[in-house]
Amino acid sequence: MNNETNISSTNTTTCCYCGVGCGIVVNKDIHERITVEGDKNHPVNKGMLCSKGMNLHYTVNDKSDRLLYPEMRYNKNMPLQRVSWDTALDRTAAVFKALIKKHGPDSVAFYASGQCLTEEYYVVNKLIKGFIGSNNIDTNSRLCMSSAVVGYKMSLGEDTVPISYDDIEIADCIFVAGANPAWCHPILWRRVEAAKQNNPDLKIIVSDPRKTQTCSLADVHLQLNPGTDITLHHAIGRCLIEDRNVDADFIINNTNGYEKYHETVFETSIADAAAICGIEESDIRLAASYIGNAKGFITMWTMGLNQSVVGTNKNLSLINLNLITGHIGKPGSGPFSLTGQPNAMGGREVGGLSNLLPAHRNLANENHRNEVEKFWQIPLGTIQAKPGLTATEMFDELNSGKLKAVWILCTNPLISLPDVRTAEAGLKNARFVVVQDISNKVETLKYADVVLPAAAWAEKEGTMTNAGRYIAYLSKITEAPGEALPDSEIICRFAQKMGYHGFDFKNSAAIYDEHAALTEGTNIDISGLNYEILKEKRAVQWPYPKNKNSAGTARLFTDHQFYTPDKRANIVAVSHINQSEALSPEYPLILTTGRIRDQWHTRSKTGKVNKLNQHISESFLEINPVDAEARNIKDNDIIEVQSSRGNVRVKAKYSTDIKPGVVFMPMHWGLILKSDLNRVNNLTNNLVDPLSKEPDFKFTAVEVKLYEKA
Ligand code: SF4
Repeated sequence: MNNETNISSTNTTTCCYCGVGCGIVVNKDIHERITVEGDKNHPVNKGMLCSKGMNLHYTVNDKSDRLLYPEMRYNKNMPLQRVSWDTALDRTAAVFKALIKKHGPDSVAFYASGQCLTEEYYVVNKLIKGFIGSNNIDTNSRLCMSSAVVGYKMSLGEDTVPISYDDIEIADCIFVAGANPAWCHPILWRRVEAAKQNNPDLKIIVSDPRKTQTCSLADVHLQLNPGTDITLHHAIGRCLIEDRNVDADFIINNTNGYEKYHETVFETSIADAAAICGIEESDIRLAASYIGNAKGFITMWTMGLNQSVVGTNKNLSLINLNLITGHIGKPGSGPFSLTGQPNAMGGREVGGLSNLLPAHRNLANENHRNEVEKFWQIPLGTIQAKPGLTATEMFDELNSGKLKAVWILCTNPLISLPDVRTAEAGLKNARFVVVQDISNKVETLKYADVVLPAAAWAEKEGTMTNAGRYIAYLSKITEAPGEALPDSEIICRFAQKMGYHGFDFKNSAAIYDEHAALTEGTNIDISGLNYEILKEKRAVQWPYPKNKNSAGTARLFTDHQFYTPDKRANIVAVSHINQSEALSPEYPLILTTGRIRDQWHTRSKTGKVNKLNQHISESFLEINPVDAEARNIKDNDIIEVQSSRGNVRVKAKYSTDIKPGVVFMPMHWGLILKSDLNRVNNLTNNLVDPLSKEPDFKFTAVEVKLYEKA
């Protein structure tokens, strides 16, 4: 112990908020209280932390809102009562067994989170797919990344981000499409800011219907109409072709589909595209010239493209710009989807979505199912070929009564799901609900039959994979309060209560080793990686096969050999038509939702940090003064926002940074403040992309009216 500072231990770990995955040094004092600082030796953040990361210790030191003991209610009308772990898990196992026996394995489901550690994801996926015999596991990552996953698979043959964070520093042009990394991925954006400072020739293009903080660095901001991204990407593609700024050799030797793409982008003139997008034709041409002149070109995107009813097509149309220019597999170039959550990518590595198997194997492929079955030592044919229920489908099927039980881990669907009142009706209708969480304030507790207290960040060890394929280790630094347990231990204990073998892991390292072994020989092979290497190197990019003296893989496709059957990338021509709900005289405005700088998801962690609440303390509706004045609404008036599904009441915030006809509301607030009238998902619709099943959060038809003068 250091007597002068009272520091009893110092550990390194990884931030648990966004997909950037910053390294953190945690000091613990003799009273078990921690403080945090950026890890100067970490390859991702090099010592920097954003406001959320910097204040992470408050969420650990303040345990006043923590779930401490398992609880259970014996019937729906009774209050929750404290019970032992054995009682809670025995009852849950008995109910699951009875439902599975009577209604089949698809009568139960697990709804997890991109904030779960990889080991937690691994065991829950193994449990339901390999032993219960259903594919009903999905996660809130479905709400943020699934369109990028499908886009990558269709174009590159694999769900993979091909670049490294270090490519940012050597790019000459970065196209940020539908993202506000200055607020939502701040440390990554600081690397972009530093790159721009060092290289004034670095051109930044931003497309977003809102003028966000990210736009302050932009050389051109394309303030497009919501839902017109594909038209914009096609128009840029057409300019690149007309200006002969495409890489003909790369297209001929390494891609399929260029002719159809050429035909598609020439269907619309640049002038017409500009009119559809609501931007200047000259700005489209300027953006295209920046891309055309670049030696290194990165496309960077997130929810603005993904959270759309045509999210897959938006992804494909953007990735096409990398493919036609040959900007992939070389320094400073490539598509780079930013993950919102810290471990959305790790969850997919273990197959933690309803349509996946471990190591990105395909559920529909019998050989892949058999490989996993043999590895898990279960009878061939146990794993079903049919995909399970996705996030929104689960709650729909709770409503229909086909799904009887749902186990919710580490996520707060009663704030985050679209058309949330329908989702809430599903939980009300559920026969049995298990809630596994850290907080005694999550809204789902109201519907829980069994509550399982989980250990939080710094109270358990494990790994996560960030937006750049960097796998990082998270240390256990302090004890969990009360009887809270690590999520993986809870799932393993339950699996053993169900009578299943293969869940007697001695620790999380053993789970990791099993997961890593199952990746051997796949595109995401990490069989050479273990906790010791991760602790030493802090963050390693996959693949990391064994016996190859690997140092990780910074950049994929350097040999232009893609993961498609013919090794060529697919330039997929897509329709530019948006399929969002139609505007009407009754609902003439487009509502788009998103994050603010200092809050995280549904505020169950950041909401308890005073410093973070000072940035923006309550929900609001951002509205252009033109739209506001037409409705007799002044800045700070309380307004009512109405869609065909519900309403909210929040303050109006005037802003000329948002286009007339578009309004914005943050996603973070919900029921915690006495009323659900600040919950934006009262308004949103449950339309989803037909391939990725990702919801259309960025386009809801609404009307706004004055409710109360300021
Ligand atoms: Fe954490 Fe993301 Fe901030 Fe880094 S940028 S400190 S990972 S919230």
